[in-house]
Amino acid sequence: MKKIQMVDLQSQYYKIKNDVDNAVLNVMDSAAFINGPEVKSFQNELESYLDVQHVIPCGNGTDALQIALMALDLKEGDEVITADFTFAATVEVIHLLKLKSVLVDVDYDTFTISTEQIRKAITPKTKAIIPVHLFGQCADMEEIIKIAKEHNLYVIEDNAQAIGAEYTLSDGSVKKSGTMGTLGTTSFFPSKNLGCYGDGGALFTNDDALAHRIRGIVNHGMYERYYHDEVGVNSRLDSVQAAILRKKLPHLDTYNEARRKAAEYYDEAFAGHDQILTPKRAENSSHVFHQYTLRILNGQRNELQKFLTEKDIPAMIYYPVALRKQKAYFQDSNDADFENTDKLLDQVISLPMHTELDDEQLKYITDAVLEFMK
Ligand SMILES: *Cc1c(COP(=O)(O)O)cnc(C)c1O
Repeated sequence: MKKIQMVDLQSQYYKIKNDVDNAVLNVMDSAAFINGPEVKSFQNELESYLDVQHVIPCGNGTDALQIALMALDLKEGDEVITADFTFAATVEVIHLLKLKSVLVDVDYDTFTISTEQIRKAITPKTKAIIPVHLFGQCADMEEIIKIAKEHNLYVIEDNAQAIGAEYTLSDGSVKKSGTMGTLGTTSFFPSKNLGCYGDGGALFTNDDALAHRIRGIVNHGMYERYYHDEVGVNSRLDSVQAAILRKKLPHLDTYNEARRKAAEYYDEAFAGHDQILTPKRAENSSHVFHQYTLRILNGQRNELQKFLTEKDIPAMIYYPVALRKQKAYFQDSNDADFENTDKLLDQVISLPMHTELDDEQLKYITDAVLEFMK
């Protein structure tokens, strides 16, 4: 059996090696390393895949979130609501820009931000909501957009974990994750569903004026060469990464399908076990399984992780600490209304999930989990 990894990027690369190698060598040959034609082509191809007006590539997914907040002209002290249970980057950029993060609980079953808690957290200072499409499925976007309209708020979708997922609105129309809010952001970190071979990220929007603004911000606040109209950043996707992403984008749906098949194998193996909860699918979203995350109810989650490690099965705790307990952002934490996050911190364990898992590996993993859980 092939060694089991949390993410197997090497096997995935070998399947497209010729294509990718040639694309990279062509960039070397062209010497158009920055803002070359590969970047523009990738941008156009991603726009058509997502059916969105504008994709603006940038340096990474964290930059994308920061740039999104910069583009919305938020002022010091403005409040941004996001989830307590997510990767820290989402909250970090809020604090970096001297805005105030207001963290709220998530839904226990879908792991995404609770819309009831969003409503409770709104104040006159609230300016934006950042739903995170955690582990590969969309937050309750229809309700979030409705709340945002009622209170005149921006919505920034942190889509770093769910690119390719689809959301069905109640009028029957289907949208790609990241294209429903004011802005969407994503990351092309290698292990993400659409990963490059270094760092990369992008913003999405259907708003022409906002897109123009963002294209300036990512380029030193420059709208005309050598005229700096605002303080921006330098955040670019380089041509080598764009060339690689152009080779991977046509496989994204197949990759997500492979993840779904692995998830179904896991689901079946654990179905009906009274101490294991398998990930619940959100009502209106497809799931692209950036992570496959179980909830372990018998209090033995850490012991299970240790048992799996001894069997050479990597398993990760995403995420072990609530963001409201991180000292970089908060000095004291309010623990009321975080019941779900706090349960999840003790229960979640993510199993190996990638595009290259085979049945032999899946059987080995599920047998091991069931052996421990009895
Ligand atoms: C990965 C990730 C980011 C950050 O992306 P980078 O490219 O690593 O900066 C932000 N938000 C979420 C939810 C992520 O998973």
